[in-house]
Amino acid sequence: MTDKTSGHTMTVVLSRDIVCLRLVCHEPDGSTCRRACTEGCGDFCSDADGHIKPVSFCTAVEWMTEGGDTEDCYAGDDEIPLHDGMPVEISWNGDYYEWSVAKDECREN
Ligand SMILES: [Zn+2]
Ligand SMILES: [Zn+2]
Repeated sequence: MTDKTSGHTMTVVLSRDIVCLRLVCHEPDGSTCRRACTEGCGDFCSDADGHIKPVSFCTAVEWMTEGGDTEDCYAGDDEIPLHDGMPVEISWNGDYYEWSVAKDECREN
């Protein structure tokens, strides 16, 4: 079983006639995804500058919410059944966040 007190899950919602995915972060404060530049450098900041500090939000959630392209950020296999609250894995590929269904989850079926 995946530990629901950490990691990220995906919530599936139907908004009018469109199915939307919403990333939910369960990581504690100070986790990698909850650290960001506090000096306003945007995506081009490097930890070497000493700007990267704990923030009150998840940068992956913000990325996918602000961009509005959670579906486009999917990097897993096609034809994976989705269900509400499924654990997902988040990674930064150098240009943007991408996500896939957690491996533990795939083995369940
Ligand atoms: Zn997070
Ligand atoms: Zn910075």
